[in-house]
Amino acid sequence: MTDTRRTADTINDDELGELYADLDRYEEVQGEMNENAIDLARRAARAEAAVARVRELHRPAECANARCKQRQWCIGCDPDGLKGDCSEYPYPCPTILAIATETTP
Ligand SMILES: [Zn+2]
Ligand SMILES: [Zn+2]
Repeated sequence: MTDTRRTADTINDDELGELYADLDRYEEVQGEMNENAIDLARRAARAEAAVARVRELHRPAECANARCKQRQWCIGCDPDGLKGDCSEYPYPCPTILAIATETTP
């Protein structure tokens, strides 16, 4: 691109051709950027869905032990899924801690 703006009266055919070529390149780049953005959005959606599935699996439940009602245990970490004891399967578990991020609400 030229640094100074030309007017219709002063531009020649070669310069006009360069401008059209520039325009074509920018449209091509814009198209590639849009494709990248769509691809990234799809990947982000898949990753968020995977994290949501992990959170659904490793969800907390209230401890069955009467002495520690306020603590939680992880349903997903308990192979039986029935223990209800935070001392053996505390929540948040290592899996939940591993997927925790600062941006996660
Ligand atoms: Zn867990
Ligand atoms: Zn407990």
